[in-house]
Amino acid sequence: MATSYPTITYSKLNRFETCRKWYWFQYLSGRDQPQEKERTPANIVGNGVHGALRKLCLTGNPEDARAELDAYLRMDIHECAGPGTAAHDEAVLFLERGIEAHNTIDSAERWAELKCEAQTGRYQVRAWAAVDRVDHLNDGTWQLIDWKTGKWDEGEKTDQQLDIYHLIVRTSRQIKKDIPVTTIGWNLRSGTKRVRVLTRDDAVATLRFLGGFAKRLREMTEFEANPGSQCGFCPWREQCPDAANVPLMEAWLEDEDEGVDAEGSGLAAP
Ligand code: SF4
Repeated sequence: MATSYPTITYSKLNRFETCRKWYWFQYLSGRDQPQEKERTPANIVGNGVHGALRKLCLTGNPEDARAELDAYLRMDIHECAGPGTAAHDEAVLFLERGIEAHNTIDSAERWAELKCEAQTGRYQVRAWAAVDRVDHLNDGTWQLIDWKTGKWDEGEKTDQQLDIYHLIVRTSRQIKKDIPVTTIGWNLRSGTKRVRVLTRDDAVATLRFLGGFAKRLREMTEFEANPGSQCGFCPWREQCPDAANVPLMEAWLEDEDEGVDAEGSGLAAP
């Protein structure tokens, strides 16, 4: 029987870095995922554009993508991004930018929302990803894209995401060591591209990193809360006793046991 290792994804890693307790709630507690409260225009736009670009990648026909986005945004539950709203106009603009991007890609073969995984016996971990778009280009190299529609580019987080996607795609597609893979975080709002051209050595470094992270997770018994502005986005906040319990700096620094008082610390009001 094939060995089954615990699965690491970019989302899990990101969740862990944001708040370990959120990670615990989501992946270890066994609790049912709380119902999604409310769809925001931003996530409706993001999901709608991603779905439309998936269709574009499948058929290559922009009309399939436009029809998909139109139908999605006309759904009752997507009313806040429906026709006549600013969010609707944004979604249409982002899709047209995605179509322009598609027209620049010279691919021999392509995959939409490619779900792929690979595992390592050495580090006892499986890695999984759903990559928005993967292209085997006519020049023999490979390219993978993660479409972005957010207002903020997440810089190094995007790099980490692309590194993990690269490792999984290179392994699962069996891309040879002398073939580079261009990875792109392509923001359809700003038009900017975050590009990393990655080699097999980069994949080896990512594998080692994921192995180290998985080992640390296996050994961890406490998953502490990290309350802050992220609690506003956390679906577990109603079950979390630490939610929004952002520590007050003065209260801690003035604590008697800490031996610092407001007068001497510069914390007193001016
Ligand atoms: S509510 Fe805040 S502290 Fe609690 S799990 Fe969520 S992000 Fe962490």
